[in-house]
Amino acid sequence: MRIGMPRETESFETRVAITPATAQRLVQKGHTVNIESRAGKSIQATDEDYKNAGADIMDRQDILTSSDVILRVLPPPPEEIPVMKRDAVHISFLDPFQRLDLIKLFREHNITAVSMEMIPRSTIAQKMDALSSQANLAGYVAVITAAERLNKILPMMMTPAGTIAPCRVFVIGAGVAGLQAIATAKRLGARVDAFDTRPVVEEQVASLGAKFIKIDLGETGQTKDGYAKKLTDEQLAQQRAAMAKICAQSDIVITTAQIFGKKAPLIITKDMIQDMKPGSVIVDLAVESGGNVEGSCIGEEIELNQVRIIGLRNLPGRVSVHASQMYAQNLTNFIETFWDEQEKTFRLDLSDDICQSAVVTHQGQIVQERIKALTT
Ligand code: NAD
Repeated sequence: MRIGMPRETESFETRVAITPATAQRLVQKGHTVNIESRAGKSIQATDEDYKNAGADIMDRQDILTSSDVILRVLPPPPEEIPVMKRDAVHISFLDPFQRLDLIKLFREHNITAVSMEMIPRSTIAQKMDALSSQANLAGYVAVITAAERLNKILPMMMTPAGTIAPCRVFVIGAGVAGLQAIATAKRLGARVDAFDTRPVVEEQVASLGAKFIKIDLGETGQTKDGYAKKLTDEQLAQQRAAMAKICAQSDIVITTAQIFGKKAPLIITKDMIQDMKPGSVIVDLAVESGGNVEGSCIGEEIELNQVRIIGLRNLPGRVSVHASQMYAQNLTNFIETFWDEQEKTFRLDLSDDICQSAVVTHQGQIVQERIKALTT
């Protein structure tokens, strides 16, 4: 099978879909791997590194038109879909709920599109779960970035010059990113509070040494896939009121609250920011899906009432070497799982749980039920 990786086109995207290590793994399985020249620059992987791994450096147009499988990080530019081989497979993040334009193009041109966001959160799919691998890193980077912006230290220090109290960090949303943010802040010596609408995470928060803030919001719960359910407007107002005090006491607030496939809930209002300490820092990890913080802007850092609000995009891309290492492994695991070694074909069996969820278009049809429902 011919597997290709064109260079990412967005300037903010520093991650890559194939590293020299995964290129070697794919070549050893008998695949041909084609990489566009300088595609690995942001992770300091040279064309020579890819060649040494057994890959070939190829012109972008040739990769697009000749690959059986194309791997990328971000969704493709629309004009690159029609030039792909009919029946080819395209695997990347696709933002499928927002990018129905791309999904329709894939259908029209008979391309099988696999969305890495839709890999199910099951034990068997864990090794392909790119949302988790990247969220984990985002949680780490959020705390490191906030710590760097804060004009205080995080740990307690007892010195002859006096005692410094530990910094207070409040993590809102204790999913994959939130739990890593808690662990990172604890490692740096901060005192950490956390909240999530799913009560089941209380134990996980406590096991990391943080305090779970209890807020009685009535019925909240989670979906069968472990995702949070959307709160009512009343519940959200209740949540904000209960959180305002904790935010006012915190030096760093990290928000990671998301509702899968929907706009992120607005959790921190301008009024709450007014009451925060000057110099404190908020990192809005949900900024790309609508934002948890009123006023946060994608790709920007702004100040409101002397509180810095960080809305930087693509936080995993700030640790592009490890983010690429994990993402490329997620993709390679996907390919290896569905590669039929005996028949030497790539089999995407739509009765399989993983394919049923992640394969969005196949043989000229939109086959993913939730996405199909949005297009009819
Ligand atoms: P996510 O990115 O969708 O959301 C982040 C967190 O925000 C979640 O914990 C969610 O409960 C929380 N949240 C939503 N609304 C909120 C609000 N108003 N206030 C506070 N918090 C709010 O979630 P995720 O990190 O992708 O994880 C989703 C679930 O999937 C978790 O239960 C996680 O443990 C589970 N998971 C399972 C596997 C697996 O079994 N293989 C892998 C990864 C994740």
